[in-house]
Amino acid sequence: MMTNLSPSPTRTPVDNPLLAPWDTPHAAPPFGAIRPEHFAPAFAAAFAEHRGEIEGVAGQAAAPTFDNTVAALERAGRTLARVSSAFFCLVGAHSNPAILALEREIVPRLTAHWDAIHMNQALFARIAAIKDAPSGGARALDAEQARVLDRYFTTFRRAGAGLDAAARGRLAEIGERLAALGTQFSQRVLADEQGWTLPLEAEEDLAGLPEHLRAAARAAAQECGLASPAVVTLSRSSVEPFLAFSRRRDLREKAFRAWIARGEGGASDNTGIIAETVRLRTEKAKLLGYPTWADYRLDDAMAKTPAAARALLAKVWAPARTRALAERDAMQEMIRAEGGNFALASWDWRYFAEKLRQERCDLKEGEIEPYLQLDRMITAAFETARRLFGITATPRRDVPVWHPDVRTWEIQAADGRHLGLFFGDYFARPSKRSGAWMSTLREQEKLDTEVRPLVFNVMNFAKGADGGPALLSHDDARTLFHEFGHALHALLSDVTYPLISGTGVATDFVELPSQLYEQWLDTPEILKTFAVHCRTGEPMPDALIAKLKAARTFNQGFATVEYVASAIVDLDYHALTTAEDLDPAAFERAALDRIGMPEEIVMRHRSPHFSHVFAGDHYSAAYYSYMWSEVLDADAFKAFQETGNVFDRATAERLHRHIYSAGGSRTPDEAYAAFRGRLPTEDALLQRRGLADAAG
Ligand SMILES: [Zn+2]
Repeated sequence: MMTNLSPSPTRTPVDNPLLAPWDTPHAAPPFGAIRPEHFAPAFAAAFAEHRGEIEGVAGQAAAPTFDNTVAALERAGRTLARVSSAFFCLVGAHSNPAILALEREIVPRLTAHWDAIHMNQALFARIAAIKDAPSGGARALDAEQARVLDRYFTTFRRAGAGLDAAARGRLAEIGERLAALGTQFSQRVLADEQGWTLPLEAEEDLAGLPEHLRAAARAAAQECGLASPAVVTLSRSSVEPFLAFSRRRDLREKAFRAWIARGEGGASDNTGIIAETVRLRTEKAKLLGYPTWADYRLDDAMAKTPAAARALLAKVWAPARTRALAERDAMQEMIRAEGGNFALASWDWRYFAEKLRQERCDLKEGEIEPYLQLDRMITAAFETARRLFGITATPRRDVPVWHPDVRTWEIQAADGRHLGLFFGDYFARPSKRSGAWMSTLREQEKLDTEVRPLVFNVMNFAKGADGGPALLSHDDARTLFHEFGHALHALLSDVTYPLISGTGVATDFVELPSQLYEQWLDTPEILKTFAVHCRTGEPMPDALIAKLKAARTFNQGFATVEYVASAIVDLDYHALTTAEDLDPAAFERAALDRIGMPEEIVMRHRSPHFSHVFAGDHYSAAYYSYMWSEVLDADAFKAFQETGNVFDRATAERLHRHIYSAGGSRTPDEAYAAFRGRLPTEDALLQRRGLADAAG
């Protein structure tokens, strides 16, 4: 396998578009010219270049200074950064068997590469010497430099640089194995998602589905190249609305069972991967001096300890569970009143919740979607950013993209300054992973010259039918705002050092800019202008906006229980001090029994497809982060509400300065306090979810 990564002697780097200079607009990756076979030699060259640079920094004779060590490390690895970012863009958004095969090979090598750097003894000694030197080395450091130095020291320490050779060797082995397991995990989930569709052959199979969902199901069948006239896929934007609207209880059950069994059983079974992953993480934590993986992970998060994360979840769990049980009883009563002779099952929840929502909030079936046209919602997200931060977005058609559906905009500051390029990849397709995410093809920095970022959003929306506009559910529109909030965190970034650029912040802080941004979607200022009916052109009526607002706390018991259960199970796995012979299915069941999980609700992400936690380390023991960040974003939005203007200039200016443009230049606590004048409280969160009274 290794030989694949050696540069071919017959191919000089200039023949490889990944290694040649990018003379595209704003030096964006030349996707049109990049082929899968370019990646292996490009990675080989990039690894070699970076290793050479690292050896130069570590082995130099000069006494360690911030400039010759930390800044030099920040300047290193630029080829690797650009090759990796183009590669992982394709892995997630537009893969093929060649890319996925290479991913299985590259990810462990990448982990080994970075582990070798972070455990490099000579480098660690230099960094420690600068840190220990009075006033930060040869010259006093500015605040950002001090922060970057601290992050380097922490990263090296947490990678095991301070341990003996035997421990470092074992950590390197574990790291490579974990990387391979994470890739396998996500590839198996993808295989299960690609391998299953529910054909809707006849009119009776479509019973209950509003027109926009029928259209989406037809478009999905076309997209997958299937003979059926319409299909439901296991993409969340396809299966969730089907569960909410289909009158066919048997088909709901079929779709639901397939959805929650992704990664479980059959050729794509992830059970063994979960067991081995948890065991290796536990071993790694112990080698690093922590009792559990959760202790290790959270030591470097805003929460700091698993106990702090659990305390927040516990505070929310009890009132949410009570609320969910009441929601269940109301739906059971509805079933009884309709003459139904069955107990509410998990595949019934969304269906009866939707009926109950329509009844209680006086919302008609499919009443909202025709107002939420994708293009209008994209413009709404841009307009929100213009009103808050003064930026504008102009379409660009001259930038290479990785798929014809991808759209590009140039983002400019109020004074016309170029801030970056934004790529939007909105539609589901078989070559794309499920879910929604933001990432970058290049990050902002200004270490030597000003480098502006290339930022992208990926979603899985259904295409409009028969050339009509793509229509979003309210949840889809929130997702669009959420991911654009992350994108702004990268686009507005204004720091010197790449390490702390944009979203380079703690995992339980990184959802603040995204979740906060969702709040503007539901403001009358935005809805009245951009939520325009796709056929009549009428803006969303005030009465509907009011109903939408009232419906916000509807079914929040369910939504909160579904989420918190996943967050607790994640923390439970990673609270193990020993994880031999772990049986994930039994472990998950026991963890849910302990918290009294209502039988009719399934975790938002069951273990076998819990990609946040098992497709890599990033959100492991950190799925609670969304709730943690929600405490921050609910409290932060209140800062605007308190002024009586959700676009208040002074508040927006502080938000821009201390959060959206600040990257990781300060600790999360410092950054938040600088914006708000104090640390957050949980009141706004409980209020928003309608749980304040139940919390007591
Ligand atoms: Zn997010």
